[in-house]
Amino acid sequence: MLNLGAEHFGQMAAHARAGLPNESCGLFAGEISGDTKTVKAVYCLKNTDASPEHFSMAPEDQFTAIKDIRKKGLTLLGNFHSHPLTPARPSEEDIRLAFDPSLSYIIISLKDPEPVLKSFIVHAGTVTEEAVQV
Ligand SMILES: [Zn+2]
Repeated sequence: MLNLGAEHFGQMAAHARAGLPNESCGLFAGEISGDTKTVKAVYCLKNTDASPEHFSMAPEDQFTAIKDIRKKGLTLLGNFHSHPLTPARPSEEDIRLAFDPSLSYIIISLKDPEPVLKSFIVHAGTVTEEAVQV
């Protein structure tokens, strides 16, 4: 299960809205205890693709985020990106690029007036939705 504070959800949703019409992306980190991942920090990164259908996280932003995660003694829990016009489901490309089964892949859909957030675990091309508690 993924425990997400309302402020973290807000940070991701605000970043997603600010990036429109393009996809936005970022990383999040926190602590793992048993089956529960608790988010403690969200990092809003630049989408260097500047595209409504793709994202690539700016390498310098990733570097800065990873450095901060280490400094805070947190664990990288996963990444997030937005779908400006489509539902919060991983695209074929998202699945293809999700190579780490230990990470959570959050997608925020802005298709509807209220942002919809879902988290997924991808293992060898198989997608499982992960429970999220906000
Ligand atoms: Zn996607």
